[in-house]
Amino acid sequence: MKNSPVLILMLSAMLLLGACASGTNSNPTNTLPAPQVLVSADTQPATQPAPTETIPAATVTQSTPSTQTNPGIAIPEPENRTHYQLNLILNYYTQYAVVDETITWTNRSSQTFTELAVVVPPKYYPGSFSLRSLTDGSGSPISGWQEDGVRFTIPLLAPLAPGETTSLKFSYQLNLPAHEGTYGVSGRQTNLTHWYPYIPPYEEGKGWIIHPQQLENAMLVGEYMVTETSDFDVSLQLTDRQELIEVAASAPAEEKNGVRHYHLELARGFSFSVSDSYFEHEIVQDGVRIHSYVFMESQEAGKAVTEIAAQALKLFGELYYPYPREMLTIVAADFLHNMEMDGMVMISYGVFDFYNKTPKTNLTILTPHEISHQWFYSMVGNDQALEPWLDEALATYHEVLFYQRYHPDLVQWWWNNRVDGFAPKGYVNSDIYISGGYPAYRDAVYLRGAEFLQQLRDLIGDEAFFAALKDYALTNTYQIASREDFFAAVARHSQADLNPLLSKYFRN
Ligand SMILES: [Zn+2]
Repeated sequence: MKNSPVLILMLSAMLLLGACASGTNSNPTNTLPAPQVLVSADTQPATQPAPTETIPAATVTQSTPSTQTNPGIAIPEPENRTHYQLNLILNYYTQYAVVDETITWTNRSSQTFTELAVVVPPKYYPGSFSLRSLTDGSGSPISGWQEDGVRFTIPLLAPLAPGETTSLKFSYQLNLPAHEGTYGVSGRQTNLTHWYPYIPPYEEGKGWIIHPQQLENAMLVGEYMVTETSDFDVSLQLTDRQELIEVAASAPAEEKNGVRHYHLELARGFSFSVSDSYFEHEIVQDGVRIHSYVFMESQEAGKAVTEIAAQALKLFGELYYPYPREMLTIVAADFLHNMEMDGMVMISYGVFDFYNKTPKTNLTILTPHEISHQWFYSMVGNDQALEPWLDEALATYHEVLFYQRYHPDLVQWWWNNRVDGFAPKGYVNSDIYISGGYPAYRDAVYLRGAEFLQQLRDLIGDEAFFAALKDYALTNTYQIASREDFFAAVARHSQADLNPLLSKYFRN
């Protein structure tokens, strides 16, 4: 179908909105202009949908809780994984927090360590992170650590032999930056993702896996963090007017004496999104609570998104394995990009605002994308900086798998508007440091990535293709997968010669 001007404009909006990380200025000292300025004319459909009707103050619409238990996954869980205890006290109105954190880490390598590397992502925001004390598990002070940007090198009080376990206790303050993104404060929301020090993966022969973030033209390109499957016990205490505040999180809360407690196992991180402006909706499907938090103008879309999410969970559950958590949290982001976290996704308010009640809309395209990251990012990890295609090409391709399942008449529309209209160029296995910044990154990794997956499917056939994807998911859950793991899974299901395809789409 030919692109109408409206579609082309929607397409531009999608470009801005269709990424897991795009379009934000990550410089915290450079506060972004108000959202209405950011949504420039060329990102708005020419005919804007009528404003959603104002619905009287919302309450949680909760269907009867299901008694079904989550089927879980029959995959061996990694042993001796890292444990994070995070006790957070947050004043939402002053944007100030204090945190006590204990990391318990077991040396699973064959080396003896005399120091550990720790990544402190808030250090990218000047003045945001202030360390008050650092001790070992018994409370003995540790001194002489070195800081290099976000990387801390922390000497251990005693060498840590293979198989031994140690703990680090951090006490720190966070001054949350004015930053419309997954860490920081906007007009309507405070987001805490990658808000605490973490120990990066250690690979024999390579060392600690730490990459710098990538900024090009003051825009963040992709995600730089590589994280291991770990366990989290988190508490949150709000200190001011907590009766007004709603907390979206990676896991359901148990509240005791005004403190929320969370437990999340086998995850790569723990996120919060806090606001006094949320309207909530929840449905339960197959024992999973699907809970949305949106702003007032998007209440209808806030209900629709839970239905789209339910369809997505069903599809990906069939393709791979059932969503393994008790709850999936969907949050309207008060910024213009989308992002996946463990147990939670954030979708731009712009996507909600332009929901047109049909499947021909960004909400239907991007919700399955973000939810598929619960499998490819959260369960099956990858090096997001160096091999981002392993989660982003798959997430983009999951969009069209969603249309094939639920809206087959719109599959060609999806290809025209999401991929072909951009005539994308670049190598699928580009990293986040690609020259050309975000647009080049998106074209190569997301769009060419989707083209590549379709051509791979055409070459080896549906049966082998879906068997290979499932095999890749099952064999790499809880791991950090690589290109070799992906193609090894393909090779277990097809003898086809992939070389012509690889030379077309991949560097090397
Ligand atoms: Zn994505």
